[in-house]
Amino acid sequence: MDFELTQEQKMYQRAVHDFCAAEVKPFAAEVDASGELRWEAIRKMPQLGLTALQVPEEYGGAALDTVSVVLALEELGWACGSTALSIAAHNGLCCAPLVNWGSAAQKERYLPKLVSGEALGSLALTEPGAGSDLAGGVQTSAVKEGDSWIIDGSKAWITNPRYAPVIVTLVRTDKQAGTRGFSMLLVEPGTAGLTIHAPEKKMGLNGSPTQMLSFDEVRVPLDALLGAEGQGFQQTMQTLDSGRIGIGALCLGLARAAFEEGVNYARQRRAFGKAIADHQAIQWMIADAATEIDAARLMVYRAAWLKDQGRDFSKQAAMAKLMASEVAERVCRNAIQIHGSYGYSREFPVERIYRDQRLMTIGEGTSEIQRLVIARNVLREFA
Ligand SMILES: Cc1cc2nc3c(=O)[nH]c(=O)nc-3n(C[C@H](O)[C@H](O)[C@H](O)COP(=O)(O)OP(=O)(O)OC[C@H]3O[C@@H](n4cnc5c(N)ncnc54)[C@H](O)[C@@H]3O)c2cc1C
Repeated sequence: MDFELTQEQKMYQRAVHDFCAAEVKPFAAEVDASGELRWEAIRKMPQLGLTALQVPEEYGGAALDTVSVVLALEELGWACGSTALSIAAHNGLCCAPLVNWGSAAQKERYLPKLVSGEALGSLALTEPGAGSDLAGGVQTSAVKEGDSWIIDGSKAWITNPRYAPVIVTLVRTDKQAGTRGFSMLLVEPGTAGLTIHAPEKKMGLNGSPTQMLSFDEVRVPLDALLGAEGQGFQQTMQTLDSGRIGIGALCLGLARAAFEEGVNYARQRRAFGKAIADHQAIQWMIADAATEIDAARLMVYRAAWLKDQGRDFSKQAAMAKLMASEVAERVCRNAIQIHGSYGYSREFPVERIYRDQRLMTIGEGTSEIQRLVIARNVLREFA
């Protein structure tokens, strides 16, 4: 297995880095403080394919390989957690299911809007009573009535719905059929009976809107079904497998940003007659962070590479997400430690990055759920 990036991938990485350095990173604190994404930057993203990473070219997409997607999401994570999460969710959770299972008519209706840089897509799985245990807990239901589905229920913690032309929504269509009783429906904001509530007040990622949705007899046409009826749970699992690679990449970016801040600060700050970077305890933090980021990056690249090879990548994606999110937690924690009191101040970026990264061991499957996925795969291999 060869981890050397191709010339094309390196060029793309450089282009996204330069864009993020100019258009995203300098505004990250403002995005966090205002709670608003910087649309001036998002509108420019189609030039680099960032709003259409794996959308086919015929719909205006960049049709990139997964390794390139990882490179792009690491740069976005390095620049701004809020922007990176909204872009990752848009690509991995909304565009991807549409590309994978959408009919020609559904793709024509939604993909041009989604790739335009004027909107961001959304996927609604989680509910007030169901996150990790979607199969056991999802209550939102859809029943057929004439030429429509009627949806009732609620969704919680959903990224981007206020910007979405379409919300891919997981519903129960057959209460007796277990995991075969779920389907995905394409729901347009503005449909009567759908309420998109005010954004949650969160610890971090404040620019990325996270909202609750209520469905009160929401009527959508029968052809709003995404793929086949009864496939919703399998579609969810497949979407999350890929999404985990993206979150892993985003974690690399967050960790790298905090690491850079920590090293730069350590080289300047003096204590006991020398730069704190010359104290061995600080050097160990730097060495551990450099090593762990590298290890996590290799794992994220491997999962992406396996996906590009058309090979099974579920275990490796869970491992990569688990590793990268827990590395981000440690690296960001230590970057604050290196800054001393200044790290605890809103004046220094490490405070925001720490708050932003905290979601990463929770969203798109908690660390505990990643371990369940990994263990299930390992035990199957031993059986
Ligand atoms: C900022 C943000 C953005 C989000 N974006 C989206 C989105 O776009 N779409 C969407 O659908 N959802 C989204 N979510 C929801 C997120 O994916 C869920 O919160 C997450 O999956 C965890 O679910 P939960 O909060 O219900 O926790 P629970 O499932 O209630 O878990 C609580 C705790 O119990 C542990 N636990 C649960 N089951 C087990 C088990 N079997 N073994 C061991 N431990 C277990 C968990 O690991 C966790 O520590 C978002 C959340 C946030 C905060």
